[in-house]
Amino acid sequence: MTDLSIRPPKAASPAGAMPFSRLLLYCAMLIFVPVLLALSQGLTINNLFALLVSVLSIGGLAAMLLQFALAGRIPRFTRWAGIDNAMRLHRKTGEILALFFLLHPFLLVLPRFFVAPQLALSDLWTTFTATETATGFYAMSIMVVLVLASIFRDRLPMSYEAWRVSHGLGFAVVMILATDHAITNGRHGVYNNWFDAMWVILCALAVASILDAYLLRPWRLKKRPFKVVSVNQASDRDRILTIEKDGDFDFDFKAGQFLWINTSGHVGNRTDHPFSIASTPQNMPRLSFVIRNLGDYTSGLDKLEPGQTVYLDGPHGDFTLDAAKGNSIVLIAGGAGIGPILGLLRQLNANKDPRSIHLYYGSRTEKDVVAWDEIEQIIATMENFKATKILEITNEEEAVAEKGYINQALLSRTLDKDQINDASFYVCGPPVMLEAVVHDIKKLGVPSSRVIFEHLTF
Ligand SMILES: Cc1cc2nc3c(=O)[nH]c(=O)nc-3n(C[C@H](O)[C@H](O)[C@H](O)COP(=O)(O)OP(=O)(O)OC[C@H]3O[C@@H](n4cnc5c(N)ncnc54)[C@H](O)[C@@H]3O)c2cc1C
Repeated sequence: MTDLSIRPPKAASPAGAMPFSRLLLYCAMLIFVPVLLALSQGLTINNLFALLVSVLSIGGLAAMLLQFALAGRIPRFTRWAGIDNAMRLHRKTGEILALFFLLHPFLLVLPRFFVAPQLALSDLWTTFTATETATGFYAMSIMVVLVLASIFRDRLPMSYEAWRVSHGLGFAVVMILATDHAITNGRHGVYNNWFDAMWVILCALAVASILDAYLLRPWRLKKRPFKVVSVNQASDRDRILTIEKDGDFDFDFKAGQFLWINTSGHVGNRTDHPFSIASTPQNMPRLSFVIRNLGDYTSGLDKLEPGQTVYLDGPHGDFTLDAAKGNSIVLIAGGAGIGPILGLLRQLNANKDPRSIHLYYGSRTEKDVVAWDEIEQIIATMENFKATKILEITNEEEAVAEKGYINQALLSRTLDKDQINDASFYVCGPPVMLEAVVHDIKKLGVPSSRVIFEHLTF
């Protein structure tokens, strides 16, 4: 038995359908399109400061519109961009935009502090209190509140679902107010009406995406209901939810993807939760999920009755075998991360995949381990498959397990050099474990393109 030490995790960058940096670049280019349009249509720029203010104002509004696409679960867009990337960019952009919006009135007045300082404060006061700028002021205030609520979401006395509804609807209001402000106060309206029309159309599209999420998508999902088959205890802290198709419709997915599950019985109810599929397409019409008891919803899973209707939004995500390169696959699961990793392992087993496969499954105690019997059966039947169980806390009877955490020392001791140089690493687990493990894999010299991972949080 080896004692493996833990080091503090360092930040990792997620892998998705495309690298995060490329999505960032495309979005940055899109944001500049309205700025360039404005310049080509006669927006006059007198100095560098005026250019900066125009870029921040016009680009800021464009970035806010893009936020609706990034978080909108639009299947084609999320497949292209990678849902993990899209959600990450949405979060980061939101924080930066709140700062821009907050600075916007100050930036406009800033030159006055140099040219006519005695008038600057009264100008600033007018900017905040004038009737013409009221919609801008309201947009800025609501936005700052919404962004702060997102940053401190976990500390608010509010359920995740209530937060999500207030976030979506709140930003639709901010968008309408900000668009009104841009077309009534923005300088471009003075010289070109079609520019205003463009903002109104884009704003309408953004608001329509929210209406789609609340009204049309539920209607689409209603056409493909599933029903609960069973909820079984899988470990001290995990349960296996099994559902099956309740009708004749197409439902395609790839092992490792995830779905938003709505078990409220009402398709329009926005209380859906994301869970990774632990089964494979071969198991259809059934789907199964390993669900860890983590909060209000997951602790109430036992209340689900067999036959109860379930609606699914998805599948989403790129945590699939399509991303695998090379002749080896390393699967790494921590805690609740075993769900999608089991999905991938079951798929590799069903395909009789000839590549060398090694599973590392980290868990706090033996009692939290899920599906180890099945994993042992796969070890017995699949020659090219190995599995290592790593427990944080063990007792004497469990002396066969590795003790501690999945880290660089364990990986370099149990994988041979060829595997490290060739394998695709799939990692899923809680945020701290995920970041630490991805960091350690990279320290082994594995490039980001061969590290595929799934966050269990957005
Ligand atoms: C892509 C993805 C795949 C996941 N796969 C699995 C899985 O296979 N097995 C598993 O056990 N867990 C999985 N999770 C995590 C799971 O969604 C949360 O644990 C669950 O939603 C918690 O809900 P709760 O009300 O019980 O807990 P809470 O205490 O209410 O929430 C705990 C945390 O979970 C997140 N969360 C809560 N509700 C939602 C929601 N409706 N939508 C998004 N995030 C939410 C929030 O970050 C919150 O802080 C996955 C998460 C994501 C993003």
